[in-house]
Amino acid sequence: MVKQMGIIGYPLSHSISPDFQQAALDYCAIDANFHSWEIQPDDLESFFQNIRTSNFSGASVTIPHKEKCVELVDKLSPSANLVGAVNCIVKTGNKLVGHNTDGTGFIRALKAKANFNPKGKKVLLIGAGGASKAIAHALIKSEIAELTIANRTLDRGDRLARQLKLIMPNVDAIDLNRKALLKPLGNVQLIVNSTSIGMKNGPDPLASPIPEDLIPSNVLVNDIVYNPPDTPLITAARKNNACTLGGLDMLVYQGIEAFELWTNKDAPETIMYAAAEKALGI
Ligand code: NAP
Repeated sequence: MVKQMGIIGYPLSHSISPDFQQAALDYCAIDANFHSWEIQPDDLESFFQNIRTSNFSGASVTIPHKEKCVELVDKLSPSANLVGAVNCIVKTGNKLVGHNTDGTGFIRALKAKANFNPKGKKVLLIGAGGASKAIAHALIKSEIAELTIANRTLDRGDRLARQLKLIMPNVDAIDLNRKALLKPLGNVQLIVNSTSIGMKNGPDPLASPIPEDLIPSNVLVNDIVYNPPDTPLITAARKNNACTLGGLDMLVYQGIEAFELWTNKDAPETIMYAAAEKALGI
């Protein structure tokens, strides 16, 4: 029987996961259809009843369902439990297991595509939303030395910093403004943008979360926004001779991690990259 897999989110017109996951399934000769399941929040529970009884075998989960899925699966992996969000569901027997591959995908991309090992490094993380939380936990697990969280809404950054301080003391939250950014920018080796600033059709597509003249040259700048590939932050960092990593790498690696959980096979990385780049018109 053909396996049914897919991505669950709303809206989904922007998602390129079906392109690179279907390409990987086809390449590995796995008889499966990878769907784009655009499910409104009110319909999520009944959708879960369907996938329990059908020949569903796994799914990615994206905005706005990652937190709600925590309650709807039967079991959580340690990372999904820690982050409080599910971005990957695996059906094992008749049980649905929720995983979170955003953090592990982020770290794999850093190491594989930027040759950057976060161990012992000082990091500025811009944003305090769902992706930021997964990334912060993964960075702490990778034994970074210091973490500064800069967020537009300081309260939200403070809340995240307080949670993280329970596992690592060297965590601070600051406002996302020029004056507050000056100190960490003189001190860090890695800058990560995990806000929606710079995203096509997002709240502020033409802006950079850090003023161009403040970006140091001796850092790695990782923007997890992947559309456009060259965000205003990436363009500014390049102008300042900093090393850069775009968001496509995290996207593909969280997908690679998911593919490996669903199939117990090594993911065909080159095939997935080619399909993702084609879908984005790169
Ligand atoms: P989220 O939970 O809604 O968090 C959004 C974050 O962006 C918050 O920190 C928010 O600050 C900040 N923000 C939004 N608009 C802003 C603006 N105009 N000025 C300043 N800050 C602003 O979203 P998320 O799930 O974490 O996703 C964030 C971004 O990461 C999205 O662009 C998403 O596409 C991308 N992402 C990429 C990957 C990947 O694999 N590459 C994976 C996950 C997410 P406040 O707290 O002040 O509202």
